[in-house]
Amino acid sequence: MGLPNLRNAAGALVLSCTLLPAYAATWTVRSQPARLVNGGPVLFQVRPPAKLESLTGTWLGHQLTFSYNAATKTWFALAGVSLETTPAKYTLELTGARPGNGARPNFSRQFAVARAKYPKIKVELTVEKKFTEPTPEQLQQIEEGKKIKQDYLSRVSADRQWSGAFTAPADAPISDVFGSQRIFNGVASRPHEGLDFRVPAGTPVTAMNDGTVLLARPMYFEGNFVVLDHGQGLLTLYLHLSEFKVKEGDMVRRGDVIGMSGGTGRATGPHLHVAVRWQGTYLDPARLMQLSLP
Ligand SMILES: [Zn+2]
Repeated sequence: MGLPNLRNAAGALVLSCTLLPAYAATWTVRSQPARLVNGGPVLFQVRPPAKLESLTGTWLGHQLTFSYNAATKTWFALAGVSLETTPAKYTLELTGARPGNGARPNFSRQFAVARAKYPKIKVELTVEKKFTEPTPEQLQQIEEGKKIKQDYLSRVSADRQWSGAFTAPADAPISDVFGSQRIFNGVASRPHEGLDFRVPAGTPVTAMNDGTVLLARPMYFEGNFVVLDHGQGLLTLYLHLSEFKVKEGDMVRRGDVIGMSGGTGRATGPHLHVAVRWQGTYLDPARLMQLSLP
């Protein structure tokens, strides 16, 4: 009577033994921060079970290219979650390339996205009429600005230029956070897609990380506008400057002065508006600065 049971037990044991090697070689995939929110950046860190030549991924419809950190033997990529993303679980799909044999191991892991609590304070702002009721000539300038942004801000340079933490572009208090909603002359506008620093005109504005100057020119709404390309679709934008200290094509290092603060364009007074754009999505600059990056 007991023999078939023993055989079953032995059979189960053999089965689990044959499966063990596959399970032993697992992928480790982590996010920083551990809790993902809409509007937030995220650093994905991956330790594959075997040596890889390259690693790519897809996340919320975006393509990710991972870099290798030899010190920690992990692959990393900076990504984000748009403000509009609904709280739910989303899948990070990974595909590696093994050196030599052409094997392409893959792995996927789900990450929950929670809803961030952004301030619901509505601000009544008085803005010059030219920004709410523009003339035909001003409309043309606005259209030109839109085209320039559509063209330049969608350019993706393949190589990562940033390294290490993103630092504050000015040593000043925050006057408006990311995600708050504004009202211009009684008309509700989009949520605030950047971070405002309370600085008087003429304060040095510094690069948040290493990159190349993609744009440095006057624009209708943005005023004197500098955009830095940090590679792989990650941009930082600096608005309302009084002066440029860089020109398009310049390479900058984190902390380099790129311009002086001001109140040009659609601004109620001198301040620095900084934005972080990742593959067409605006992310919270404050949350980006909190990440400890390789
Ligand atoms: Zn702003």
